[in-house]
Amino acid sequence: AKNEGGKRVQIFEPFMHEDFLMLRQIESGLTDALENDEFTVLFQPIIDLATGRTKSCEALLRWKHPELGDVSPAMFIPVAESAGLIGDITEWVLRKACEAAAEWPEDVHISVNISPALLKQNNLPVTIIETLVNTGMVARRLELEITESVLLDKNPHTNSLLRQLQKMGLRLCLDDFGTGFSSLTYLRSWEFDTIKIDKSFIRNIGNSPTDQKIIGAVVQLAKSLDVATVAEGVETEEQLSRVREAGCSRVQGYYYARPMTAAQATERLVQEELP
Ligand code: C2E
Ligand code: CA
Ligand code: CA
Ligand code: CA
Repeated sequence: AKNEGGKRVQIFEPFMHEDFLMLRQIESGLTDALENDEFTVLFQPIIDLATGRTKSCEALLRWKHPELGDVSPAMFIPVAESAGLIGDITEWVLRKACEAAAEWPEDVHISVNISPALLKQNNLPVTIIETLVNTGMVARRLELEITESVLLDKNPHTNSLLRQLQKMGLRLCLDDFGTGFSSLTYLRSWEFDTIKIDKSFIRNIGNSPTDQKIIGAVVQLAKSLDVATVAEGVETEEQLSRVREAGCSRVQGYYYARPMTAAQATERLVQEELP
């Protein structure tokens, strides 16, 4: 967190004063949020198009601030990262996610977002092993979602940590594919189990033949490398049929299911199991 100090000075621009106060409020609120029980984890199913059944559920963090109300993770996760709080928060999310998944059918995976900041530290593997042991989960059911930006800064430490996580049997998902300077060579040099095509591509797929072609090419390449593809943010029937045509193996989005509580997810998964 300390080496982020240089960047945060920019926030002191006068016209950003209110934003700054809000960020301060978020930062100080985050410090107590775990203790005060203000977080919850929701679960969003990821559907396997071949079977129509849930392949995995993504754990998505929610925070109700006592004064600000619901704050989006897109807003508070970066603050938690720069304030050095993301480690504790992730540990909590991992535990909640594995506790929930322990109740699900054994072929359903659990996907957890791992912030790039944690891949620069040493304790993630230990935290994960402890969580798996304490919740009785096997490593092969846990999939870590890592944004592609993490692979850009060619940090040797991040590299060895990712290898270590792979050796532990965890699955790796390359998240937000297509948003950064995606390089398809990542797919070659890394044994990702899954890539998740960012929802910004899916949004336009109906009226952009180019986006559809790009997705088709990514899917074909992934297939040839035995990597599964998830289309994120599928909201409409048309988007669904386009990603199906493109050959995506899995979909996630409001069309199938919104993020739901652990109890709702368990109920849905049990229903799917019925003959
Ligand atoms: P993400 O990893 O790209 O997660 C997918 C986001 O898309 C989620 O937003 C999800 O609710 C949303 N989404 C799913 N289906 C649809 C759809 O059909 N349409 C639209 N418009 N959106 C859809 P959410 O939950 O607000 O999370 C935002 C981001 O916050 C996540 O993006 C992730 O980067 C981060 N995040 C959430 N939970 C965690 C966490 O536990 N740890 C970390 N490090 N980051 C988290
Ligand atoms: Ca994700
Ligand atoms: Ca995304
Ligand atoms: Ca993201």
